[in-house]
Amino acid sequence: MSEVSVTKNAEGPAHAGDQLVVLDNVNKHFGALHVLQDIDLTINRGEVVVVIGPSGSGKSTLCRTINRLETIDSGSITIDGKPLPQEGRELAKLRADVGMVFQSFNLFAHKTVLENVMLGQTKVRKTDKAAAEQKARALLDRVGVGTQADKYPAQLSGGQQQRVAIARALAMDPKVMLFDEPTSALDPEMINEVLDTMQQLARDGMTMVVVTHEMGFARSAANRVVFMADGRIIEEAEPNQFFNNPRSDRAKDFLSKIL
Ligand code: ADP
Ligand code: MG
Repeated sequence: MSEVSVTKNAEGPAHAGDQLVVLDNVNKHFGALHVLQDIDLTINRGEVVVVIGPSGSGKSTLCRTINRLETIDSGSITIDGKPLPQEGRELAKLRADVGMVFQSFNLFAHKTVLENVMLGQTKVRKTDKAAAEQKARALLDRVGVGTQADKYPAQLSGGQQQRVAIARALAMDPKVMLFDEPTSALDPEMINEVLDTMQQLARDGMTMVVVTHEMGFARSAANRVVFMADGRIIEEAEPNQFFNNPRSDRAKDFLSKIL
């Protein structure tokens, strides 16, 4: 009962003291490529961390290790104090606790929008169908696609599909949401509708890790910017400090090319 009454949203950033995702000295190789090198990263509850850096620097791999789509070679990752499970039901639960939104929306093409948002609830969370549908409809409304519930993904615009993907992840009541370049595949006029949805989520207190090239979003939504290059975290700072006064030459060089 007491857990329910502690709403992190009401507490806001003041509640952001405790550590939700902790990567400790994480290393990973793809063959000879040392893709993640001595990664130490802590994401606090309620925090929005934007990860930026050149292509190939390991940003996607970093995200994928957090929900164990990729294994790591050494170091540790804990979520809410628990090490990542290796397999089976525990792993399925972890994947539900860590919502992931990809560049390619990855919706099930042969299922309706509503079914896409219900599926994980009934299969993984074992929610009954009526409750799952009610929740799915509420979430679809929340991300602004409630009227599309009975269509198939291909009948929606890219921006709408990506918002369905966000609703689907939210349906699992994730502890943290990972976004890997969620707007990179979208036509320009659809980018803002997805960023606005993410902005709202951030304001509602969701813990978020966002890989993006959208620097406007980083400036306005991020509590912290993490800059990666060549598999390492080169710099971590508040957005204002990072964009106005980057410390490393790599970050200065990167920013000079994109801003
Ligand atoms: P980013 O998301 O920052 O562009 P990635 O994490 O996708 O970077 O990739 C980092 C590096 O790892 C790149 O050089 C990429 O080619 C390589 N890489 C990514 N996935 C694999 C894989 N499954 N097997 C081999 N190399 C990979
Ligand atoms: Mg990537």
